Amino acid sequence: MTFNERYASLLDKCVTSLTTWKTFIQENLKEQEYDIEATKLRDITRQYCEIDNNFQRSGEAIKLVENAVSDPSQNYDIDAMYQENLLKQDIKDPTRNEIWQQICCDDVAVRVIKPKKQKNNEHYEEVNDSVMCSSSFSAPIDPISKRVIRKPLRNRKCKHVYDSQSIYDYIRQSGRKARCPYVGCKNNSLAPDHLQEDSQLEQRISQFLAQQETDSSGSDEDSD
Ligand SMILES: [Zn+2]
Repeated sequence: MTFNERYASLLDKCVTSLTTWKTFIQENLKEQEYDIEATKLRDITRQYCEIDNNFQRSGEAIKLVENAVSDPSQNYDIDAMYQENLLKQDIKDPTRNEIWQQICCDDVAVRVIKPKKQKNNEHYEEVNDSVMCSSSFSAPIDPISKRVIRKPLRNRKCKHVYDSQSIYDYIRQSGRKARCPYVGCKNNSLAPDHLQEDSQLEQRISQFLAQQETDSSGSDEDSD
Protein backbone atom coordinates (compact mmCIF):
# COMPACT_ATOMS: atom_id res chain seq x y z
CA MET A 1 0.00 0.00 0.00
CA THR A 2 1.41 3.39 -0.90
CA PHE A 3 1.38 6.23 1.54
CA ASN A 4 -1.46 7.91 -0.33
CA GLU A 5 -3.52 4.74 -0.31
CA ARG A 6 -3.00 4.37 3.42
CA TYR A 7 -4.07 7.95 3.89
CA ALA A 8 -7.18 7.46 1.75
CA SER A 9 -8.15 4.38 3.70
CA LEU A 10 -7.63 6.13 7.01
CA LEU A 11 -9.69 9.07 5.80
CA ASP A 12 -12.43 6.67 4.78
CA LYS A 13 -12.54 5.32 8.31
CA CYS A 14 -12.68 8.80 9.82
CA VAL A 15 -15.52 9.83 7.55
CA THR A 16 -17.38 6.64 8.34
CA SER A 17 -17.10 7.20 12.07
CA LEU A 18 -18.22 10.82 11.72
CA THR A 19 -21.19 9.63 9.68
CA THR A 20 -22.07 7.06 12.34
CA TRP A 21 -21.87 9.71 15.02
CA LYS A 22 -24.03 12.06 12.99
CA THR A 23 -26.66 9.39 12.40
CA PHE A 24 -26.70 8.57 16.09
CA ILE A 25 -27.23 12.23 16.97
CA GLN A 26 -30.02 12.63 14.48
CA GLU A 27 -31.83 9.50 15.48
CA ASN A 28 -31.48 9.66 19.22
CA LEU A 29 -31.02 13.16 20.53
CA LYS A 30 -33.33 16.11 20.82
CA GLU A 31 -33.15 19.82 21.51
CA GLN A 32 -30.40 20.76 23.95
CA GLU A 33 -28.64 17.41 23.85
CA TYR A 34 -28.81 17.48 20.09
CA ASP A 35 -27.36 21.00 19.99
CA ILE A 36 -24.44 20.09 22.23
CA GLU A 37 -23.49 16.96 20.34
CA ALA A 38 -24.02 18.58 16.95
CA THR A 39 -21.70 21.42 17.92
CA LYS A 40 -19.07 18.90 19.01
CA LEU A 41 -19.47 17.01 15.77
CA ARG A 42 -19.04 20.23 13.83
CA ASP A 43 -15.88 21.15 15.73
CA ILE A 44 -14.31 17.75 15.20
CA THR A 45 -15.31 17.72 11.53
CA ARG A 46 -13.68 21.11 11.09
CA GLN A 47 -10.47 19.72 12.60
CA TYR A 48 -10.52 16.78 10.20
CA CYS A 49 -11.01 19.20 7.32
CA GLU A 50 -8.03 21.26 8.45
CA ILE A 51 -5.89 18.14 8.69
CA ASP A 52 -6.99 17.03 5.25
CA ASN A 53 -6.36 20.50 3.79
CA ASN A 54 -2.87 20.45 5.30
CA PHE A 55 -2.25 17.02 3.86
CA GLN A 56 -3.21 18.28 0.43
CA ARG A 57 -1.03 21.37 0.82
CA SER A 58 2.01 19.34 1.77
CA GLY A 59 1.28 16.89 -1.05
CA GLU A 60 1.36 19.76 -3.54
CA ALA A 61 4.57 21.11 -2.03
CA ILE A 62 6.23 17.68 -2.21
CA LYS A 63 5.24 17.36 -5.87
CA LEU A 64 6.82 20.72 -6.66
CA VAL A 65 10.02 19.75 -4.85
CA GLU A 66 10.14 16.41 -6.67
CA ASN A 67 9.85 18.19 -10.00
CA ALA A 68 12.58 20.64 -9.09
CA VAL A 69 15.05 18.05 -7.84
CA SER A 70 16.10 16.66 -11.19
CA ASP A 71 19.88 16.76 -11.19
CA PRO A 72 21.45 14.01 -9.02
CA SER A 73 24.88 15.68 -9.07
CA GLN A 74 23.59 18.74 -7.25
CA ASN A 75 23.16 19.24 -3.55
CA TYR A 76 19.65 20.40 -2.86
CA ASP A 77 18.37 21.77 0.41
CA ILE A 78 15.22 19.69 0.28
CA ASP A 79 13.89 20.94 3.58
CA ALA A 80 14.16 24.60 2.62
CA MET A 81 12.64 23.89 -0.78
CA TYR A 82 9.76 22.09 0.83
CA GLN A 83 9.09 24.91 3.31
CA GLU A 84 9.23 27.47 0.53
CA ASN A 85 6.79 25.56 -1.64
CA LEU A 86 4.53 24.87 1.30
CA LEU A 87 4.16 28.58 1.94
CA LYS A 88 3.07 29.06 -1.66
CA GLN A 89 0.06 26.80 -1.13
CA ASP A 90 -3.15 28.57 -0.21
CA ILE A 91 -4.71 27.80 3.13
CA LYS A 92 -8.22 26.77 2.24
CA ASP A 93 -11.43 27.32 4.12
CA PRO A 94 -12.19 24.05 5.98
CA THR A 95 -15.89 24.36 5.17
CA ARG A 96 -15.06 23.97 1.49
CA ASN A 97 -13.49 20.61 2.17
CA GLU A 98 -15.35 17.55 0.94
CA ILE A 99 -15.58 16.10 4.45
CA TRP A 100 -17.39 19.19 5.68
CA GLN A 101 -19.77 19.02 2.75
CA GLN A 102 -20.55 15.43 3.59
CA ILE A 103 -21.00 15.71 7.31
CA CYS A 104 -22.14 19.20 8.14
CA CYS A 105 -24.06 20.76 5.32
CA ASP A 106 -27.08 18.91 4.17
CA ASP A 107 -30.71 19.16 5.01
CA VAL A 108 -30.63 15.92 7.00
CA ALA A 109 -29.32 18.17 9.72
CA VAL A 110 -31.90 20.83 9.04
CA ARG A 111 -34.86 18.49 9.14
CA VAL A 112 -34.41 17.87 12.84
CA ILE A 113 -34.58 21.48 13.88
CA LYS A 114 -37.77 23.17 12.79
CA PRO A 115 -39.92 20.93 10.72
CA LYS A 116 -43.26 22.68 10.94
CA LYS A 117 -42.80 26.08 9.28
CA GLN A 118 -44.59 26.37 5.99
CA LYS A 119 -42.80 27.46 2.87
CA ASN A 120 -42.91 31.20 2.55
CA ASN A 121 -40.49 34.08 2.53
CA GLU A 122 -39.39 33.41 6.07
CA HIS A 123 -38.59 29.88 5.20
CA TYR A 124 -34.94 30.61 4.55
CA GLU A 125 -34.37 32.18 7.91
CA GLU A 126 -35.82 29.18 9.64
CA VAL A 127 -33.67 26.87 7.66
CA ASN A 128 -30.59 28.90 8.43
CA ASP A 129 -31.14 28.33 12.13
CA SER A 130 -29.92 24.80 11.70
CA VAL A 131 -27.31 23.84 14.27
CA MET A 132 -25.11 22.08 11.76
CA CYS A 133 -25.20 24.90 9.28
CA SER A 134 -25.88 27.97 11.36
CA SER A 135 -24.33 31.00 9.72
CA SER A 136 -21.92 28.76 7.90
CA PHE A 137 -24.14 27.35 5.22
CA SER A 138 -22.21 27.32 2.04
CA ALA A 139 -23.54 25.79 -1.10
CA PRO A 140 -22.48 22.14 -1.35
CA ILE A 141 -19.67 21.27 -3.72
CA ASP A 142 -20.18 18.63 -6.33
CA PRO A 143 -17.72 15.77 -5.70
CA ILE A 144 -17.10 15.29 -9.42
CA SER A 145 -16.84 18.77 -10.90
CA LYS A 146 -15.66 20.32 -7.59
CA ARG A 147 -17.99 23.20 -8.35
CA VAL A 148 -20.93 24.59 -6.43
CA ILE A 149 -23.98 22.42 -6.92
CA ARG A 150 -26.74 24.39 -8.62
CA LYS A 151 -29.28 21.71 -9.32
CA PRO A 152 -28.98 19.17 -6.50
CA LEU A 153 -29.98 15.57 -6.82
CA ARG A 154 -30.00 13.46 -3.71
CA ASN A 155 -29.14 9.80 -3.57
CA ARG A 156 -32.06 7.98 -1.94
CA LYS A 157 -29.74 5.35 -0.51
CA CYS A 158 -26.80 7.19 1.04
CA LYS A 159 -28.38 10.70 1.01
CA HIS A 160 -25.42 12.28 -0.72
CA VAL A 161 -26.02 15.22 -3.02
CA TYR A 162 -24.62 15.81 -6.50
CA ASP A 163 -25.10 18.29 -9.24
CA SER A 164 -27.61 17.04 -11.75
CA GLN A 165 -25.40 17.53 -14.77
CA SER A 166 -22.19 16.02 -13.50
CA ILE A 167 -23.81 12.99 -11.87
CA TYR A 168 -25.68 12.04 -15.03
CA ASP A 169 -22.50 12.48 -17.07
CA TYR A 170 -20.68 10.34 -14.54
CA ILE A 171 -23.30 7.57 -14.63
CA ARG A 172 -23.28 7.60 -18.41
CA GLN A 173 -19.51 7.26 -18.51
CA SER A 174 -19.19 4.67 -15.76
CA GLY A 175 -22.19 2.53 -16.60
CA ARG A 176 -22.51 -0.38 -14.22
CA LYS A 177 -19.35 0.57 -12.39
CA ALA A 178 -20.91 3.79 -11.17
CA ARG A 179 -20.77 4.25 -7.40
CA CYS A 180 -21.33 7.15 -5.06
CA PRO A 181 -18.38 9.46 -5.78
CA TYR A 182 -18.08 10.78 -2.22
CA VAL A 183 -14.90 9.82 -0.39
CA GLY A 184 -15.65 7.18 2.20
CA CYS A 185 -19.16 6.40 1.00
CA LYS A 186 -19.94 2.71 1.11
CA ASN A 187 -22.68 2.97 -1.47
CA ASN A 188 -21.15 1.20 -4.43
CA SER A 189 -23.95 1.11 -6.91
CA LEU A 190 -25.45 4.15 -8.53
CA ALA A 191 -28.19 4.39 -11.13
CA PRO A 192 -30.41 7.24 -12.31
CA ASP A 193 -33.41 5.91 -10.41
CA HIS A 194 -31.56 6.31 -7.10
CA LEU A 195 -31.59 10.05 -7.59
CA GLN A 196 -34.29 12.42 -6.51
CA GLU A 197 -34.66 16.17 -6.66
CA ASP A 198 -34.14 18.16 -3.50
CA SER A 199 -36.09 21.34 -3.96
CA GLN A 200 -35.52 22.54 -0.40
CA LEU A 201 -31.78 22.37 -0.80
CA GLU A 202 -32.04 23.92 -4.24
CA GLN A 203 -33.82 26.91 -2.72
CA ARG A 204 -31.15 27.28 -0.07
CA ILE A 205 -28.44 27.19 -2.67
CA SER A 206 -30.03 29.84 -4.84
CA GLN A 207 -30.62 31.95 -1.75
CA PHE A 208 -26.98 31.49 -0.78
CA LEU A 209 -25.73 32.39 -4.25
CA ALA A 210 -27.97 35.44 -4.44
CA GLN A 211 -26.69 36.52 -1.03
CA GLN A 212 -23.10 36.08 -2.17
CA GLU A 213 -23.79 38.21 -5.19
CA THR A 214 -25.31 40.93 -3.03
CA ASP A 215 -22.33 40.78 -0.67
CA SER A 216 -19.77 40.96 -3.43
CA SER A 217 -21.49 43.87 -5.17
CA GLY A 218 -20.39 45.86 -2.13
CA SER A 219 -23.59 47.82 -1.54
CA ASP A 220 -25.20 47.84 1.89
CA GLU A 221 -28.47 49.53 1.19
CA ASP A 222 -31.37 48.79 3.52
CA SER A 223 -33.72 46.21 2.23
CA ASP A 224 -36.76 45.16 4.08
ZN1 LIG B 1 -22.89 8.34 -0.98
